[in-house]
Amino acid sequence: MTTIPANLQAVIQRIAAACAQAGRDPATVCLLAVSKTWPESAVRTAAGAGQRAFGESYVQEALPKMAALAGLMLEWHFIGPLQSNKTRPVAENFAWVHSIERLKIAERLSAQRPAHLPPLNVCVEVNVSGEASKSGCTLDEAPALCHAVAALPRLRLRGLMAIPEPSVDEMSALARRHFGEMRTLYDALNAEGLPLDTLSMGMSHDLEAAIMEGATIVRVGTAIFGERNST
Ligand SMILES: *Cc1c(COP(=O)(O)O)cnc(C)c1O
Repeated sequence: MTTIPANLQAVIQRIAAACAQAGRDPATVCLLAVSKTWPESAVRTAAGAGQRAFGESYVQEALPKMAALAGLMLEWHFIGPLQSNKTRPVAENFAWVHSIERLKIAERLSAQRPAHLPPLNVCVEVNVSGEASKSGCTLDEAPALCHAVAALPRLRLRGLMAIPEPSVDEMSALARRHFGEMRTLYDALNAEGLPLDTLSMGMSHDLEAAIMEGATIVRVGTAIFGERNST
């Protein structure tokens, strides 16, 4: 656990170096610490080192952790696959959902978002590498889904999320191309009048490539908390 603050610093340095290389202001890239599978104590340690935003993928696992840490005023992002029967606790407890891939789920989240909370920030997840095993809508489906989600009253569409296939060489042309396709889509949607400000892409192994292509949120688990036992 004592390595978490050092790991966090190393990731922040990687982000700063990638921003320097890309000619970007590091303040335009937000670090989301992915704490799925890690106990409350690990999140507490990272929070003590200054980390505010945390990502979780499993509703059942996240809720008790979030309740135990409620006093820390952290910002919680849901980044995992979301089924209809789990939308209510997500709408009631999270600040962000990155993994919108169907309108039905977005409609439920909007209907279930409590009136006393600000609109739920959401991203539409795009399966940019086109793998059958991956979640997310296709690049072709994304514009219509984004426009429909943007019209829902209790959601605020912030942008797009992608998990491209892992590549052996992080800076490979393929990784860059997939992140670049996301950037092109993001620019096109903004040009169509959707006021998007978020490109959620880049993880422990490929955050540099994502930042080169315009990522505004990088989602980093392993490089902060260590290797996960479960998947
Ligand atoms: C687990 C997960 C991450 C973090 O991946 P690492 O390789 O551990 O950095 C990022 N995004 C999503 C959607 C995840 O499920």
